[in-house]
Amino acid sequence: MSQPTSTPTPSNAPVNRATFDQFMVPNYAPGAMIPVRGEGSRVWDQTGRELIDFAGGIAVSAVGHCHPKVVGALVEQANKIWHVANVLTNEPALKLARALVERTFADRVFFANSGGEANEAAFKLARKYACDNFPKYPEDKENAKDKLESEKVEFVAFNNSFHGRTLFTVTMGGQPKYTKGFAPLPPGIHHAPFNDLDAAAKLVSDKTCAIVVEPIQGEGGVTPAKPEFLKGLRALADKHNALLIFDEVQSGAGRTGELYAYMKYGVTPDILTSAKGIGGGFPIGAMLTTEKIAASLNVGSHGSTYGGNPLGCAVGLAVLDIISSDATRANVAARSAQLKEGLRKLADKHQVFSDVRGEGLLVGAELSKPYAGKAKDLINAAEKESLMVLMAGPDVMRFAPSLLITEADVAEGLARFDRAIAAFVAAAAPAAAKAA
Ligand code: PLP
Repeated sequence: MSQPTSTPTPSNAPVNRATFDQFMVPNYAPGAMIPVRGEGSRVWDQTGRELIDFAGGIAVSAVGHCHPKVVGALVEQANKIWHVANVLTNEPALKLARALVERTFADRVFFANSGGEANEAAFKLARKYACDNFPKYPEDKENAKDKLESEKVEFVAFNNSFHGRTLFTVTMGGQPKYTKGFAPLPPGIHHAPFNDLDAAAKLVSDKTCAIVVEPIQGEGGVTPAKPEFLKGLRALADKHNALLIFDEVQSGAGRTGELYAYMKYGVTPDILTSAKGIGGGFPIGAMLTTEKIAASLNVGSHGSTYGGNPLGCAVGLAVLDIISSDATRANVAARSAQLKEGLRKLADKHQVFSDVRGEGLLVGAELSKPYAGKAKDLINAAEKESLMVLMAGPDVMRFAPSLLITEADVAEGLARFDRAIAAFVAAAAPAAAKAA
């Protein structure tokens, strides 16, 4: 155990990757390269090397790095007021809430700091709404008022989802690798296979307070929901008086070309959660819902110290202005087509991908059988070629670049990826030949 150092290191002393192992909890395994600066879809590391960013900080940097309008909004707000606590409201929060409501199905917004917290709010709200509207003792007015209780407390969610890392959200995700070691987990959460409406129908009952789904599973492999699956879930929720919650933390904020993926599907949820891209790199989250449902989050029932803070909301408003423009939407469509076509060409050339899929600029390329499980190796090969890409599980490469990425940057990124795949294939050749 270390003791406090008598003369601490000056705070501006140099740091490197080894500093992580020395001082930080080992829950991440960051790469060796440390980015220090970004502009648009380009990033520079400590050595001055320039990389192309197809990762977007995991679908966060929706308008690229250091967009001048967003930097301007942040600096302007930073010179006004940073924080007031939710005993008062603030102008940026009011403006961002209004902007989100005016562009979506929602009537009301709750702000959080992350996707996990937006989801936590959504799941708590689903329970509270059931208590308020479907109490266990409806005839016992006194009891119902003072000791709210409902039998409608269960959730139906989907295998291989990702909803965050709080105990409630990680349990909703249905990925044992993330809940291992954290038991006891919150009860009453059932999981069906994604895109399997019959299996979901078997789990949904009058005890279900909400069905929770990502319209496009991001972490789970960039798997879009089938339209009839989401439509079926909407019908199931209606039949059983359950709420339909869309987690659009990854699929939202313009990533599919629409502001939210539900608009593309034409299926409207009761609650929608948003984070990642909506802050463009500033940690904000939002839960959107209708006036009727929002009423259950009455004064004091839920809260957050920083949720809706002026800095985050000023940034969110600037990001929203950019991502909801026709020009951004057109760019997402054009760059999506370019990226998918390029990946399909690389798939043909190198025989490494069995499928290229996704919507807008949330694109996945599934590794073909001989290379299954090697997504991390391909990330490393790409990094050597100065390209940042992501994985979505061990078998799928994921691409979530800035919605403003240029044609030239996509082309250059694909050229670098071509070289990276060649090196990856050469290194994996003996093992891949065995697996084939
Ligand atoms: N929901 C989805 C669909 C996500 O992809 C993520 C993060 O990857 C989260 C929730 C959790 O968001 P956060 O890490 O901001 O808590």
